[in-house]
Amino acid sequence: MNSDKNAQDFKPDTIFVKGEQGMEIITNFRQTSSCFKVYEIDPAIGCDFGCVYCSMYAQEKDMEHRPVKVFVNYPDYLARFISENKDKDLTFNFTPKSDALSPSLIETGVTQKILDVLTDNKNRFYMLTKSGIPRDDVAERLIKARELCQIIISSGLPNERYRALLEPNAPSISDRMELGKFCKENGIPISGIVAPYLPIASDLDADRYKEEVIERYAEAGIDHLSVHLLKLSLDCRDRMSRAIGGDNQGQHDLSRLYDPEKCKSIEWTLPGGKKILRYYPLEEVVKKDLTAMKRLAKEKGMTVSTCVEVMRLIGDMEFNDDAGNKGLTCVGFRR
Ligand code: SF4
Repeated sequence: MNSDKNAQDFKPDTIFVKGEQGMEIITNFRQTSSCFKVYEIDPAIGCDFGCVYCSMYAQEKDMEHRPVKVFVNYPDYLARFISENKDKDLTFNFTPKSDALSPSLIETGVTQKILDVLTDNKNRFYMLTKSGIPRDDVAERLIKARELCQIIISSGLPNERYRALLEPNAPSISDRMELGKFCKENGIPISGIVAPYLPIASDLDADRYKEEVIERYAEAGIDHLSVHLLKLSLDCRDRMSRAIGGDNQGQHDLSRLYDPEKCKSIEWTLPGGKKILRYYPLEEVVKKDLTAMKRLAKEKGMTVSTCVEVMRLIGDMEFNDDAGNKGLTCVGFRR
């Protein structure tokens, strides 16, 4: 993998799929018993951004991000699903298994059509994304949906060098923060997700890394962060180790951080239903870094939250209280 690769040079590699065969059905599936209830919109299998650690496509031995299969009839299926389930509280996560603002989903027009369906039916939804400001037809739809939607901007790596190594086709960190500013200027609710926070050797020291991450969001006007340390399968850990290549300290730290003899694991369901084991990083690192992140964020007037399973892991069931008092869920979504 080439660390000099420029995400702007990236061209989508997309298969158009017609009909509904092979499409992910809409469910309110939850990975852990603590996840809050939302319905998933998954119009694609695969993701252009190709993150080396992806919890959906990179946890097996062979990565399966591309070509991205986009189901072009998905918006009709969604409209039908909404009409048949009007008695339910339909809040959506658009799209947990890909990125709604990624090139394949935008260039096929599927994201635009889904935004129209959600807006026409007045359904609430949130969208986690590593995108910058999307092209005008999508941006206009996001503005139109601002009473219904929340954008959650994802960025947790220390700097552009690690971004290029581990999120090779995704927009730069600064482009993502520009999306944050755009949302603020246009009244679109916005929060951040520090995912993944990856405390391995970096060009910054450990404290500076945390400060840098918080500052990038603060400068974009974002006042809440959901913080997540990676859970990794061992195959994925080893692939990341190879991706960071010459950084021997980073490789060493990754093996130490994800030691299957010492780390807790969670059973994880991949697209297609296969189950794998993902390992949390060492408990003491999770606890120390989340606590430090919360303190630093508070100094900037920001709140943080994390997964309820992680709160259990670190023995701090009050970790999300400040966020909860603002009406925010573990992922920072305002109910
Ligand atoms: S943007 Fe999200 S879904 Fe896409 S490859 Fe990265 S982690 Fe996976």
